[in-house]
Amino acid sequence: MTHDEVLDIYQKTGALLTGHFLLSSGLHSERYLQSALVLQQPDIATRLCAALAEHFRNFEIEAVIAPALGGVFVSHETARALGVRALFAERVNGELTLRRGFTIKPGERLLVVEDVITTGKSTRETIEVVKKAGGVAVAAASLVDRSGGKAELGVPYKSLVTLEVPSYTALECPLCKAGSTPIKPGSRGLK
Ligand SMILES: [Zn+2]
Repeated sequence: MTHDEVLDIYQKTGALLTGHFLLSSGLHSERYLQSALVLQQPDIATRLCAALAEHFRNFEIEAVIAPALGGVFVSHETARALGVRALFAERVNGELTLRRGFTIKPGERLLVVEDVITTGKSTRETIEVVKKAGGVAVAAASLVDRSGGKAELGVPYKSLVTLEVPSYTALECPLCKAGSTPIKPGSRGLK
């Protein structure tokens, strides 16, 4: 699946918006990404994650793991394509943790996935969860890389689309300077 095909899917499902947005980080941006709007279509989720999984055919992946909640469907569908288990880690008092009886065997080879990587923080935290449990995080992946290729994860990383999305402080924001007011669409979940 090409970069343009994936972007087209994001645009057609209304998941990639252009405007003037106030991100949860407090920064302003012209782009707003809501992967849940793409992933709410199961057939599309299956296709995108199958395309992502293709890059890891030779990595001997034994399970896929994602940080909840955004990554859960990506973990599930990527694991389906690879024929392995799909796990997720969730936050307990702010810290990502394996719960619900999920276990990782010593030396087990995991692929860490997300819907969108912005700074890579959640992915790095998930890699730590895998290590703490005795597993090996062999690679990471996301449908969209919003970091413009700048996220440093310490493992091989692949995304279907790389987006360079500039964000600005309120003082520097060219859209504010032009007189427009940013909106905060939905609740949290802005990437
Ligand atoms: Zn602004």
